[in-house]
Amino acid sequence: MKLHERDISQRALIMDKKKAIASFLKHVEQLSRLPLITDAEMYQLYGEEVAAAVAEMDRVNQREQICLRCPSRCCPVCGCELYAPQFRQCPIYDFRPVLCRLHFCHRFNEAGRATVIELGDIFFESLTTAEQAGSDKVRLFESPPLATHAAGLIKVTAPLADAVRKGYLDPRQAKRQIVREAARYRTHQASTADTRKDP
Ligand code: SF4
Ligand code: SF4
Repeated sequence: MKLHERDISQRALIMDKKKAIASFLKHVEQLSRLPLITDAEMYQLYGEEVAAAVAEMDRVNQREQICLRCPSRCCPVCGCELYAPQFRQCPIYDFRPVLCRLHFCHRFNEAGRATVIELGDIFFESLTTAEQAGSDKVRLFESPPLATHAAGLIKVTAPLADAVRKGYLDPRQAKRQIVREAARYRTHQASTADTRKDP
């Protein structure tokens, strides 16, 4: 095992699952832009240790290109409308849902098996605990696919991803448009939530 791999495994041991779940319960109702989420919101939702572990795994992924070289991508398997093999990375990478951020399959085991297991446990246990506490937000974490919870966004962006898949549209151009629509979707969601809060 290389030095950086041992470092990641050791850091996983200091991830406090109870603390992460407690943080989730405290902050989940404040999120108004789900199922899309940013790094900053992930940090707020699960706390520093989880954010650091995810960032570390993402760095390994970027360096080793684990997902990019994967022969059985999980994005189409889970029915994501925005996946196209021509994209080198998720087209909404900065806004990708929580499930996409916390899922690292067995191909990441060598990089940090303890972290893979711990992040999966934190995802499922935080949702189960929130659901038992009566949270309606839990269903928004069942994305991807995205159409059920972000219908307007997918109506506009799925045709772009489809055109990329069929070779009709340049992936970089499609990605720019998809990111713009995702940012617009988030702004709209936030303003709708603010309106709902008004007396
Ligand atoms: S998480 Fe695993 S299955 Fe999904 S794309 Fe990456 S390597 Fe492939
Ligand atoms: S949103 Fe998630 S499932 Fe869809 S392409 Fe991005 S990482 Fe893959």
